Amino acid sequence: MKTLINVSNRLPITIGDKITRSSGGLVSALEDLNETFQLKWVGWAGGNISDSSQKKKIAKEIRKAFNYYVIFLEEKDAVNYYNGYSNSSLWPLMHYMTTYSRYETEWFEAYQRVNHQFADAVIQQVRRGDQVWVHDYHLMLLPAILKDRSPDLKVGFFLHTPFPSSEVFRCHPNREELMNGLLGADLIGFQTFGYLRHFRSTVLRVLGIESEMQLIVCKNRKTALGVYPIGINAGKFSEELNSSVYAKHLADYQKVYKGKKIVLSVDRLDYTKGILQRLDAIEQFLSQYSHKDKILFIFISIPSRESVEAYQVLVDEVQGRVSQINGKYSTIKNVPLNYIQHSIGFSELCALYSLADACLVTPIIDGMNLVAKEYIACQKEKNGVLILSEFAGAAQELPNALIVNPYDPKQMVEQLNMALKMDEDEKRRRLEPMKERVFCYDAAYWAKVFLNDLSSQANSEVEMVNLQRISLKDIQPLIKAKRVALFLDYDGTLAELKKKPSDAKPNRAIKNLFAKLEHFPQTDVYITSGRKKEEMINWFGDYNFTLIAEHGFFYSLPRLKKWEAFDNSADLSWMEKIIEVFNHYFGMTPGSCVEVKTSSVVWHYRQSDPEFGTWKANQLVAELYEMLSNLPVEIHHGKKIVEVCSIHINKGMAMEYFINKNKYDMALCAGDDETDESMFRITGDRITSIKVGPGKTYAGFKVDSPAKFRQFLARLIEKRKGKNL
Ligand code: UDP
Repeated sequence: MKTLINVSNRLPITIGDKITRSSGGLVSALEDLNETFQLKWVGWAGGNISDSSQKKKIAKEIRKAFNYYVIFLEEKDAVNYYNGYSNSSLWPLMHYMTTYSRYETEWFEAYQRVNHQFADAVIQQVRRGDQVWVHDYHLMLLPAILKDRSPDLKVGFFLHTPFPSSEVFRCHPNREELMNGLLGADLIGFQTFGYLRHFRSTVLRVLGIESEMQLIVCKNRKTALGVYPIGINAGKFSEELNSSVYAKHLADYQKVYKGKKIVLSVDRLDYTKGILQRLDAIEQFLSQYSHKDKILFIFISIPSRESVEAYQVLVDEVQGRVSQINGKYSTIKNVPLNYIQHSIGFSELCALYSLADACLVTPIIDGMNLVAKEYIACQKEKNGVLILSEFAGAAQELPNALIVNPYDPKQMVEQLNMALKMDEDEKRRRLEPMKERVFCYDAAYWAKVFLNDLSSQANSEVEMVNLQRISLKDIQPLIKAKRVALFLDYDGTLAELKKKPSDAKPNRAIKNLFAKLEHFPQTDVYITSGRKKEEMINWFGDYNFTLIAEHGFFYSLPRLKKWEAFDNSADLSWMEKIIEVFNHYFGMTPGSCVEVKTSSVVWHYRQSDPEFGTWKANQLVAELYEMLSNLPVEIHHGKKIVEVCSIHINKGMAMEYFINKNKYDMALCAGDDETDESMFRITGDRITSIKVGPGKTYAGFKVDSPAKFRQFLARLIEKRKGKNL
């Protein structure tokens, strides 16, 4: 049987005199899977236990009783990671409340430390073939840490909160680290399609990575995306509704509240729940409602994150508003707002859900909102009306509720009036499909579907069609050959691509490699680039290499720093017209620029808005095809560039010229983009071609990245040493 390692911030346990297990939706969802998986759970114990023998004792007890693996956090780390980074930085950001979001360097340091601590615990537990399921915003770095340490491990991540618009997420100082952390997962699940959409656009805008609806490819790895709305443990509610304890509570409440309309609200005291907006609407409602003795709003406010300042401020505000409303609208016989600022028992909660004529669930934003689903599950005795915010994830699934905009008190009052007057047929008509959904698509269903999808994710490494990674056995002829030529593209092949082309200057790793290459006997190096002559001389002019500039238009023999054109008679009369068109696109596309070379013109859009840049580039390419059909030019739509160059010139021709002229025994050519394909198209026993990075190609072999390619070249040189060359 496979093992599932479930990882969440907190373990579902409470450590008191005894250790007890709490019964959240996640616990029962996972229990239902015990025929498919053996379940282990890794999480924080909560609280602050510092005595090491006590820690050992507790950990042992928890492992034995529940198969849970407990993490103890240093007190300072717990405060900075949990209260600080998770709840005062990420939580408000994920809920669009950037004004509440605070950023402290030491919070992030603690967050990183704790995510690594979680990774240590997971890695200790995993065996080959296990799956790991990571939950929520507390652990956004964990997927990448796990993948780094164990590349074959299958890792799923589910985000329980919303994912905000990229315009909001980009405000966070650690946006790149967080996104890269998540992209370590093989599958990322969201509550709604909207959140998935925001995530993709953030990947594009923050990391510059384009994606498909359900797939992101980053650094040769794939991350699948999916939508999995979380359900409740509906069976547990049905069971409770048949219990005598529940029946007793309900009978009690019916007696106490006889003759009154009951409107219920249940939420954690959190600024995302729209409590103040709801109180505004209730006040307006009460000001207009003529039966003031006959209406009661029961407000269950569960204390939450009490050590976070923003929550303390909210508690005071809510208490103030509640007393103000009660002061104004109480009669001798009725106090309209029954404000309960503590948790209540499960049976009592079910009885209240069942009793309430309407339930007001009006968060200003909420990943899902389980209260809405729980209220529906408890409509057994009669048909209650759910009034639900359009900004709760649950609104996507429960469109038969009365959907409201929590920022519009007038609309909330209208809908509340409508709910209280609604006839029984209409109530039933609305309720039935919602009940069906809540019972069918429950927590167990949610977990099963997510884990099935995770299991069926193929190896997350990106495969290139029919392409082998190059190995030593493939290059035996190159190792043994007497005279060898290496035709090496620079950007994206020897050097990592940079946002600003001037930043790709040879770094230490490249210089080390060049030092090995330049004096190696019987091995000639050709740097074949699209770059201009001047740049090539500046960067490579002092090496013992032949330089081929502007995609093969010019060459300069080793150290001569003197350029020759392959074809002086090439017709370049088309350039002026192209420059005019490119300048127009430069003007219309902020962030783009035009580069004029001797034999080609390039429009760069790497620094433009990614979607706008791609749109304008496609438009430009279409226009160029129309315009240039009879001219001796080629159009390249490469990586964030559009280039027009002479048809008479390409890297492949330059390569052929030197192979024939110098009669090499073997040649190797390597490149990363479309302009290198002209070299790859030249085939034969004496040529080995390598594509660096993903994508379709004519090359015979692949290598994952420039760093890997540099390693490969260094090994080739090592192996050629001592071959009596
Ligand atoms: N709840 C609780 N104690 C109570 C009343 C309710 O624990 O006194 C539960 C409620 O049943 C629901 C959860 O708190 O399952 C609230 O979940 P929801 O998704 O609505 O909001 P969240 O707290 O996750 O933001």
